[in-house]
Amino acid sequence: MTARVLVVDDILSNVKLLEAKLTSEYFEVVTAFSGAEALEKIEGCDPDIVLLDVMMPGMDGFECCRRIKANPKTAHIPVVMVTALDQPSDRVTGLEAGADDFLTKPVDDAALFARVRSLVRLKMMTDELRMRETTGQSMGLLDPASQLMEAGISGRILIIEDRPDSAAWFTGALQSANEVSTADTFEEAMVRVRGGDFDLIVVSLGMRGFDGLRLCSQLRSLPEGRHVPILVVVSDGDKRKLHQALEMGVNDYLTRPVDPNELVARVRTQLRKKRYADRLRHNVQLSLEMAITDQLTGLHNRRYMARHLDNLIAQSQKTGKALAFVIMDIDFFKTVNDTHGHDIGDEVLQEFARRISANVRGIDLACRYGGEEFVVVMPDTDVAFAYTVAERLRRSIETTPIPISRAPGKVKITISIGIAGCEGENDTAEALLHRADQALYRAKNTGRNRVVADAA
Ligand code: GH3
Ligand code: MG
Ligand code: MG
Repeated sequence: MTARVLVVDDILSNVKLLEAKLTSEYFEVVTAFSGAEALEKIEGCDPDIVLLDVMMPGMDGFECCRRIKANPKTAHIPVVMVTALDQPSDRVTGLEAGADDFLTKPVDDAALFARVRSLVRLKMMTDELRMRETTGQSMGLLDPASQLMEAGISGRILIIEDRPDSAAWFTGALQSANEVSTADTFEEAMVRVRGGDFDLIVVSLGMRGFDGLRLCSQLRSLPEGRHVPILVVVSDGDKRKLHQALEMGVNDYLTRPVDPNELVARVRTQLRKKRYADRLRHNVQLSLEMAITDQLTGLHNRRYMARHLDNLIAQSQKTGKALAFVIMDIDFFKTVNDTHGHDIGDEVLQEFARRISANVRGIDLACRYGGEEFVVVMPDTDVAFAYTVAERLRRSIETTPIPISRAPGKVKITISIGIAGCEGENDTAEALLHRADQALYRAKNTGRNRVVADAA
């Protein structure tokens, strides 16, 4: 794995040392010698991770980190504070500033590479989602995501630990701000994660009865566990286990003896990241839906119909079952706009769409085809039956005026409908559409407010 690392330190020899180590492992290195320079460079060089010295003249590392995390353009970039300080209170200050991890000077090579690789790998998982969200935004489909640093965050946490004292200690430290539950066997942990909607799993790697690492790898393979962050707790000095855990893709770790404030700060960071990733996933899903949905009526749009029609025709040809294509157009709709205004025209379109939906089955595909033209594709339906459905809809539109929000409170409209059926092996979407369109044309030309079926 290669990645771009921004190294920030006011002392040249420190920068050079980290640069040499990282370059030897094929990382690409960008350097900055002050907090201000780091902030200046970060947007342009788009690093995958920042290694940030704490003590620097002018802006210190904590402040620099705070600013990186407050900027929506850079908040997702992991920050590792590189520090000579080793007091729990400094770590908490760093975590509260938004830091993702710490390295103590002099920097141990194995720890450096393990942390950088782990954080970059985790970042890459959300990069793909971020990119898609950005596309959604540029298409005007989505609002920009809110910032990463929100306060007062809490969540549902599962603690996996089979030593009662330790389980009680973790519960005590976290339960004031979160909903905490515990599991003390491998099986129970698996069942809970499968059934529960957890925001974070804390796994002790010092359990008596079973191997916490093996559990982590199993949890990662569960569909319900894949997106839940895992925080492991290792004994101080157990570098091998920590290394394995990071390799496995756990999100963060704590070393015993655990400082309660550091626990709370790391938990908060993981909850915040989870919320962000959930939001991204939700937005990507939403933009997919919006891309196939007509915004005014909520029906499928023409693009979706075009895609889906080919599949429906192929299926009809394979199974020999009928397929009907119904196209509807409001009569003299221009007059509705001219008389009542475009916004009332929109209301009429929305209500018409609702009536279409109410009159078709779940398997029928209803779409807004264009302005005031709508299409319903009916699988497993012959032209005669489609005619009955269409005629019922035409009559109900004619007899029940559309309510509108301004005087006179309702408008009368009528619709014209054309129908065609899929005709055997060589029929195509284009031909089917053309025949339905011809039928609609005849309905319009022979007085409107009527249903015409293609005579083929
Ligand atoms: P015909 O009976 O021949 O179908 O006449 P028509 O007036 O319904 O047909 P025409 O195609 O001449 O006009 C359609 C009108 O639909 C023109 C256009 O301004 C209006 N329209 C298209 N899309 C929208 C929309 O989203 N909202 C509103 N309010 N009007 C729309
Ligand atoms: Mg019309
Ligand atoms: Mg028209």
